[in-house]
Amino acid sequence: MERFTPAPSSLDALASAKLVALEAKNQRRQLVTSVRATGMSMRVDAGPELVSFTDNDYLGLSTHPEVVEASREATRRFGAGAGASRLVTGNHPLYSELEKRLAQIKGTEDACVFGSGYLANVGIIPTLVGKDDLIIADELVHTCIHAGMQLSGATVRFNRHSDVDHVRAILKAERANYGRVILVVDGVYSMDGDIAPLKELGGVAAEYDAWLMNDDAHALGTIGGGRGSAHACGAEGLVPLQMGTLSKAVGSYGGYLAASKPVIDLMRTRARSFIYTTGLPPGVTGAAIKALELIKEDKALVERPTTLARQFARAMGLATPDTPIVPLVIGTEADALNASSDLAEAGFKVIAFRPPTVPEGTSRLRFSFSASHCDADVKRLITACKKLGLEQNS
Ligand code: PMP
Repeated sequence: MERFTPAPSSLDALASAKLVALEAKNQRRQLVTSVRATGMSMRVDAGPELVSFTDNDYLGLSTHPEVVEASREATRRFGAGAGASRLVTGNHPLYSELEKRLAQIKGTEDACVFGSGYLANVGIIPTLVGKDDLIIADELVHTCIHAGMQLSGATVRFNRHSDVDHVRAILKAERANYGRVILVVDGVYSMDGDIAPLKELGGVAAEYDAWLMNDDAHALGTIGGGRGSAHACGAEGLVPLQMGTLSKAVGSYGGYLAASKPVIDLMRTRARSFIYTTGLPPGVTGAAIKALELIKEDKALVERPTTLARQFARAMGLATPDTPIVPLVIGTEADALNASSDLAEAGFKVIAFRPPTVPEGTSRLRFSFSASHCDADVKRLITACKKLGLEQNS
């Protein structure tokens, strides 16, 4: 039989041209196979063992023996997959336990779990606002909030990062032109590690009948005694929409919204990314339940990553962090990539973050600390960074 040789297609030509352009700007991304183990050690492809200072596994719970065992047990009891969406037959019994725990830790009436944090944001926002409404978003909110905002069709205004006066000015000028208003922030900003000024924003939101929403992806399990940004800021009761993920400090997978009972019931009935997608596998939910139990019980565990981040920042002449995230802004993409590969040579995995994840000219190393790093790892990291001239006061 004659073999069909496809002509070079316009589709492949488009993809190749885009890749070449990205390569030229050092913005092409490459997947590597990472094998992670306990204590934040890992291997990339077949390379040597590295200590990772780049994971979001802030408490080391993804490899915690009790969390792994809870996942195994859930899989044994309920199977490897949920089998259908939650509103069909995929709502296995672990979901209600998980949602109860989330509502408890967040101090809300109820909570609902989505397939991921990304899916939560693309579901929550369009369920609450539409074309006659306004969203005011911090200029640095996570990309999946942008996706949710776009899907909603609402008008979007961006405020300067954490600038409460700017938020107030936008509300003053525009509130009257719209029906409903959401004010959305990241509880902890993933690329800088700073915390949103929720108390002040909550006050402004209340003044203008706007609903404050925080994305606590990097805050649950790390600040506010593990309860997240609203608790860390003393803004309990001011943030009616608290979303987040189960994939970072919780060490598992999934997203959630914690809110009042009517809001959660509405999500379960109308949020498209809740309804039209398969439920999470039981093993994932079982792991998350155990992890939340550990977060609730072990306050020393929750404190440790930020303590280590502070030790590192102090030694490096960087600003004192309030979270386990320490950014070291390098500048160009190429310099950031070089610094990352120099650290890999020294035995550490630290990813260089580049545009569009961070603004142009601010490519950086983002160090994230975990409770499962040992003190000696942090000391060795400091020594290696100083040797590479990364210290800020050198
Ligand atoms: N929000 C923020 C602030 C995040 O950093 C992330 C993950 N990078 C997400 C949402 C998405 O969460 P998930 O990984 O569960 O989709």
